[in-house]
Amino acid sequence: MRRTKVAAILRDTEYGKEVNVKGWVRTRRGNKFVNFIALNDGSSIHNLQIVADVPKFSEELIKRITTGSAISVTGVLAESSGSGQSVEVQATNIEVIGDCNADEYPLQPKKHSLEFLRDIAHLRFRTNIFGAITRVRHSMIFAVHKFFSEKGFYNIHTPIITASDAEGAGEMFRVTTLDVNNIPKTEDGIVDFSQDFFGKSTNLTVSGQLEGELAALAMSEIYTFGPTFRAENSNTARHLAEFWMIEPEMAFYDLDDNMDLAEEFTKYLLNYALDNCKEDLEFLSNRQQEEEKNKKAEDRSMELIEKLKFVVENDYVRLTYSEAIDILMNSKPHKKNKFQYPITGFGSDLQAEHERYLVEKHFKKPVILTDYPMSIKAFYMKQSDDGRTVRAMDVLFPQIGEIIGGSQREESYDKLLERMRVLDLPEKEMYWYLDTRRFGSVPHSGFGLGFERLMLFVSGMGNIRDVIPFPRTPKNAEF
Ligand code: ATP
Ligand code: MN
Repeated sequence: MRRTKVAAILRDTEYGKEVNVKGWVRTRRGNKFVNFIALNDGSSIHNLQIVADVPKFSEELIKRITTGSAISVTGVLAESSGSGQSVEVQATNIEVIGDCNADEYPLQPKKHSLEFLRDIAHLRFRTNIFGAITRVRHSMIFAVHKFFSEKGFYNIHTPIITASDAEGAGEMFRVTTLDVNNIPKTEDGIVDFSQDFFGKSTNLTVSGQLEGELAALAMSEIYTFGPTFRAENSNTARHLAEFWMIEPEMAFYDLDDNMDLAEEFTKYLLNYALDNCKEDLEFLSNRQQEEEKNKKAEDRSMELIEKLKFVVENDYVRLTYSEAIDILMNSKPHKKNKFQYPITGFGSDLQAEHERYLVEKHFKKPVILTDYPMSIKAFYMKQSDDGRTVRAMDVLFPQIGEIIGGSQREESYDKLLERMRVLDLPEKEMYWYLDTRRFGSVPHSGFGLGFERLMLFVSGMGNIRDVIPFPRTPKNAEF
């Protein structure tokens, strides 16, 4: 008999028909006459209730149906009389596919802390919370591709191993096949990378943007969605050493077009979650409220679904970096010396605490800041006529701060080269990037959306380690 997934059975109303279902047991309870088994196969936040008339089965079989065991059940679909579910399966045959020793199984049918679950990340998919996150994550990946495909953008795979470190600035992971216990050196005593696999020094990419630009300047509108790696030693709840980034790059877009796209894109993703992940979002919302119930009212987050709708229904506020600095300089936390990183004026790099002040306290909406000081932004950003700002944009969200970083790109060969020289970037090695500005250069723009930052926002989770299956962070590469 063909297996039906739990999610499909829960929607079915053809009572009386025979079904087969396979999955993992969450709980078994009952008495010597009847047992109720909660079965989950990952397809739904809701378990399927299996009703087993105990006398119909051997005692030995019933004992093996423990939390964590895998079973196959054939039975009759019935309308449920119990509360909390519409259907149940009255078992006629139960087979144990995989036993699970309840004494050794780390997951008990009770609430475990997120920290504990991180230590057993190989098993945490089997919890309600990571089931929900995994399904929402999948939906968001799918929505990213759907959005861009419907708009005529092409998906480009950019390299993961790269010899260019123009963007990395000391935050890159080295890729090498050299024997680290016996590194070959040149006569001058420096590492001889000519003997390395690629014949030069290589690293894991921190962004696919530069290669993305090459594609955009032929295909018009492209996007990448790949893994990126940053060896930044920031052990925060918003940083991973390995994360996924979506980077659209568009020819003939100026900064306003870029902001419009970023706003439309993020709203599309949130709408997609609201339309397609309702039950999982309700579960995640309850989880968050449960977690925050002991907090003071003013420290509690907005209810998750309400929060997503709020972002979707409101225009993002757009203002310049300089205007934001004025607001921050006049803010209470600045005047009372409450910021950990004091704002000193134009040129100050904004930290998450400042970004969150603007979004959560001042505007109470997502904010797009533009026109940052040239000195704190990357070399490829379009220089403004004022000689001190670049056409950068950061999209700031409540709870997380920066979710998108982007800019209009400098399309003038001379200006780009001049900036690279000031910053001492290897112009010879970057010839391929500079070539785009020599052969049919056009205004173009793009941005990077950190996928796990988006997931934090959509799921209401507080730590980025809990929205990626296997987090990589300083001193942690388990599983
Ligand atoms: P932050 O100031 O938060 O460290 P950034 O300025 O380094 O961010 P960009 O280089 O602009 O970020 O990268 C684009 C996007 O990638 C960011 O807006 C963010 O969403 C995401 N991002 C950056 N670093 C990380 C990280 N270590 N882990 C997860 N996401 C990240
Ligand atoms: Mn960073």
